[in-house]
This record gives sequence, structure tokens and C-alpha cells, in this order.
Amino acid sequence: MALRRICTLPSFATPEVEAAFWKDRDTRLLFFRRWMLLAGITAFAVFAVVDVMIVEGNLAQVLTIRVVATVIALFFWGWFCITDTPDKREALIGAIGLVFVIANLIIIMGSAPPIADLLPFSISMILAFGFGLVAPRFRTSVWTALTAYGLYWASVPFSQTSTASIATNAHFLSLSTFAALAGTFVREKLEREQANAQHRLSVLNAKLIDADLAKDRLLASVSHELRTPVNAIGGFSEVMQQGIFGPVEPSRYRSYIDDIHYSAGLLKTSIDDLLEVSRLGVQKIAWKESVESLSRTVASSVAICQADAQEAGVSIDFMPVDKSISVETDQQRLMQTLINIIANAIKFSHRGSEVNVRVESPEDGGIVIKVTDTGCGIAPKDLGLIREPFGQVHTDQYNTRKGGLGLGLTIASGFIDKMEGCLDIDSVLGKGTTVSIKLPQHRIVRKPRPTSRVERAVSA
Ligand code: ADP
Repeated sequence: MALRRICTLPSFATPEVEAAFWKDRDTRLLFFRRWMLLAGITAFAVFAVVDVMIVEGNLAQVLTIRVVATVIALFFWGWFCITDTPDKREALIGAIGLVFVIANLIIIMGSAPPIADLLPFSISMILAFGFGLVAPRFRTSVWTALTAYGLYWASVPFSQTSTASIATNAHFLSLSTFAALAGTFVREKLEREQANAQHRLSVLNAKLIDADLAKDRLLASVSHELRTPVNAIGGFSEVMQQGIFGPVEPSRYRSYIDDIHYSAGLLKTSIDDLLEVSRLGVQKIAWKESVESLSRTVASSVAICQADAQEAGVSIDFMPVDKSISVETDQQRLMQTLINIIANAIKFSHRGSEVNVRVESPEDGGIVIKVTDTGCGIAPKDLGLIREPFGQVHTDQYNTRKGGLGLGLTIASGFIDKMEGCLDIDSVLGKGTTVSIKLPQHRIVRKPRPTSRVERAVSA
């Protein structure tokens, strides 16, 4: 059983895989084979020099055969170069090999020793080296090597080779025929196995992509369905909170209504995050670009986070941004990204500490927005995980305090990728974190600085 497995070539998973395999193999080897074949033909022609040195008596005939064989081989080589059929190219490789073998056999049959004794070695060389260099298919190697082998034996009775030489030549020729066949067999077996493994992987990959898309679609529709009732709960609880149609009695219910309203808000944020992640996954995110002042976007994001900062006892130190800088992007997404990152900085900071928001202009012409905190930090090993959907590493008091599904950084990374920028996270566990949003130069619009006093007053 094991022997049978070793001795059979694995069949291809599907006819399509087989066609793609041969086509790909042929394309990959074409350049290499073309020059190897030409090198082989040149070597065969150059051996005329050896003929001149050792052939006695029938030199003119030997040289004629060599020239004719070279011309035929060159003709096949030209055909090999211009045809675009892989099967034809294989056949031409075999034909070129056989042209050399036949030419050598004709020379052997018409010559006396030492040519008749020595030249059969060249057939061994054609088989062993030729098959190694141009990597024919196993099928090609079977018909060419066995034909060459058979032709040699058929020519023996007509040559003047001594019995001792026949024995030696037969020995080498058998070995090289075996080596040529075994070598091409093993090579093709491995190549076929690799093609099948690759096919299995691509099928699996396609299934995974489908499953991922299905998951994103499910997430999107579930989140969408949940949004409507949550909006209603949030809206009606707000109406009740404000007592628009009269006070809620008994008064004990009021604290319940506050909790309902607060929880509906948290739930809505989570659903919105889920919706955003699923849209990013199926590339269906609505993206509307405009040019806006960076100063305004950063200031608004900081302002939105102030209430959370106050509640957490954290102050935000925000350095005003150069008003001449604007960014061309989806402003809502940029703001959402900034809010996510500032909110994280607040969430993972200690009471009484400070969060810094800075904008830098590096020399490459882009912009870097840095949010730095001195909170709990992130271990180096977790830096990759937190960008993954639902990746959270602080399951202690920090996360439970403010909720969050672990989607903020996934969404932020997705948005910044769409802006062709990058999101870097530097952190030292226990010391704090700096998250940098880098936006590329082509997204930045710099207004020329106002020169007159009136222009300065207008721009201020
Ligand atoms: P969420 O904040 O909803 O958990 P995020 O994707 O925004 O989701 O963050 C993922 C995780 O990364 C957080 O749960 C936290 O463990 C870690 N993290 C993010 N920002 C910081 C920060 N500034 N300091 C410490 N840990 C952070």
C-alpha cells in the first residue's frame, strides 16, 4: 500500500486545478528553459571542436551530421520560443533531446573506435543533465528517455563498439535513464502535492472569507434591527426624565428612568460600534469627504469628551491647532476616531491625571495627532490584540466602569486605513499610552498665512 502510494503521482483535485498547474508551471519555467535549451544546443555545436581533434577518416560526415542536428534543434528551439501552447513546448523539449541522441547514434554507427566507444557517454549526459536542467514533465521524460534508451540498444548491432565498451556504456546509460526518470517523477510528485495543498488552502480561504462576510452581514442586520427599539427606549425615557407630559409618580421610578436612559445610551453606542465594524468588514461604509479646519475638528472632539473627563476626574490639556491647516477626509469619521481615542485615554487614566492632545507637523508634509495619557498602559504583547475586534486587555475595574465592546480601536484603525494614514500605539505598562494618528500629506490643505492685519483679523 505504502509502496503504491510512493510510486503513483497524486492526481489533481479538479481538472481546473490541473489546467492551472500546467499553465503556471509552463509560464514560470519558460524564460529559464528557453536559455537552457539554447545553451544545450550551443554545447552540442561546440563539440565539433572535439570532433576535429579526435575523429579520423570520416570527419566531414561527422561534422555534417553535427551541423544538420544543430540546425534541426535550432528550428525546434525557435518553434519552442514562439508557440504559446504548453503541451507543444513539452513535446519540443523531448524532440530536441532526441535529435541529439539520434545524431550521436548515427555518428557512432558510422565511426570506428575511439569515437564509437566514447560517444555513447554523451547520451547518458544528455539524459542526466538535460532532464535536470529543463525540468520536463514526467510523461515527457518517459517517452524521451525510453526512446533514447531503446534507440541505443537498436544501434548496438550496427556499431563497431567493443563488447567491453558496450557493457560500460550500457551500465552508465541505464543509470542515467533511471536517474532521469526518477528525478522527474519525484519532482512532479512534489509539485502536484504542493498544487493540491495550495488548492485546499484556497478553498478553505474562500470559505473563511464567505463566513466572515456572512458574519458581518448578520452583525449589520442584527445591529440595525436592535437600533430602532433602543432609540425608542432612549427617546421615551428622555421624555419621561424631563417630565414633558407631567411628573412620573411615585418619585422612586425616576431613578429607574435615569438608569434606563443611561443604559439605552450605552447600548446604542455598542450597537453603533457593531454596525460600524460590520460595515467596514463588507466595505459598505458611507464615506463623505470634505475639507475642514483641523483645529475645529480637534477642538470639537475634545469638547465632546470633556463631560466624561470631568466625571472621571481627568483633565484634558489641549494645545490649539494652527488654523491654517485643514484636512480633506470624512470629517465625521475623523472626529469619531479622535473621540474614541481620547475617550480611551480618559477611561484608562487615574483620577487626577491629565490627557494631552497635540498636533504635530512632521517634515514629510503630513500631520500627526497625538493623544497621550499617563494611565495604566498596555503590555507590548497586547498591542496587536487590542486592534482586533473585541480585543480588550483590561478586564478589571477600568473596562467594567465604562463598558465598551473592544471595537473602538478596530473602527479607528479601519477609518485611518481608509484615509491612507496609520494609527500607531506606543505604550509602557503602568506608565501610560500615546496613540498617534498620522495623516498623509495629500490629505492636508495648508492655507497661505495671512499677511495683512485685516487678513489676520478675518482668519482669527
Ligand atoms: P474598548 O475601549 O471599547 O474596550 P477599544 O478597541 O477602544 O475598545 O480598546 C481596546 C482595548 O485596548 C481596551 O479595552 C483597553 O484594554 C486597551 N486600550 C485602549 N486604549 C488604551 C489606553 N489609552 N490605555 C490603556 N489601554 C488602552
